[in-house]
Amino acid sequence: MDRLKGQAALVTGASSGIGKATAIALAREGAKVVVNHPVAVTAKDADAVVNEINNDGGTAIALQADVSKENEVQAMFAEMVKQFGTIDVLVNNAGLQRDAAFKDMTLEQWKFVLDVNLTGQFLCAREAVREFLRRGFQPYSKSLGKIICMSSVHEVIPWAGHVNYAASKGGVMLFMKSIAQELAPMKIRVNSIGPGAIKTPINRSAWESPEALKSLLTLIPYERVGEPSDIGNAAVWLASDESEYVTGTTLFVDGGMTLYPGFATGG
Ligand code: NAD
Repeated sequence: MDRLKGQAALVTGASSGIGKATAIALAREGAKVVVNHPVAVTAKDADAVVNEINNDGGTAIALQADVSKENEVQAMFAEMVKQFGTIDVLVNNAGLQRDAAFKDMTLEQWKFVLDVNLTGQFLCAREAVREFLRRGFQPYSKSLGKIICMSSVHEVIPWAGHVNYAASKGGVMLFMKSIAQELAPMKIRVNSIGPGAIKTPINRSAWESPEALKSLLTLIPYERVGEPSDIGNAAVWLASDESEYVTGTTLFVDGGMTLYPGFATGG
């Protein structure tokens, strides 16, 4: 349980859902964790995650920053370096949806999703890389730094009614691969996780009622909805030296959703 001992990790959007589970999973492996949250009203939930980690014998702090705002991201990284000395693992998890039929989608809905889901990943990754390069190699990891981008099965599966979201995750895919290519010679590893349907607040309507759940399960060959800890476990592996030779790839954690289950019979 010490695969990340001595390392400092930042998880964006960690006051709920996948980010929360990932922060807890990284802390259980010995990482000191920054639990990022966007605004004052999310502070209570972030503090609860911090308390859970600290009560479990780990180390965590909460830092507020909207990942789409350059000044707030830079201030968060400066505070993290002040408190934890550096960053070794960045989990670019913050993300949201603003759904609309394409003909009705406003420029505001389009920009809001792209700003948080894609530009937010750029701003945080750039600060992390600057700090990896400043800090240099440490004995506790073979890589100079690790970045994990929370993507989605919708980086490859088109999603009607969610064009802004799908475009943001498609963007995350080539953002991740391009920086992985550029940074591999520096021994910085960049990968994505592509969750399928995971039980969190973002998609409550898709699993809360028995009818919605039944319809959702037709899309999942493994026949269960994912749990946030399924993603936390994958993030630990991608952050640890066990995956040292893995960079520039998306690990789909989706119960087979990307296997085109509609083709299981006929097709
Ligand atoms: P969630 O709504 O619980 O988590 C999203 C988090 O992002 C929230 O804690 C929210 O406060 C935070 N956030 C939103 N805007 C932010 C900003 N500007 N700055 C910082 N934080 C911000 O939902 P989740 O399912 O846990 O989503 C986490 C990530 O996983 C997202 O990127 C989402 O697209 C991705 N994802 C989720 C699923 C799923 O089925 N739940 C599937 C595929 C991908």
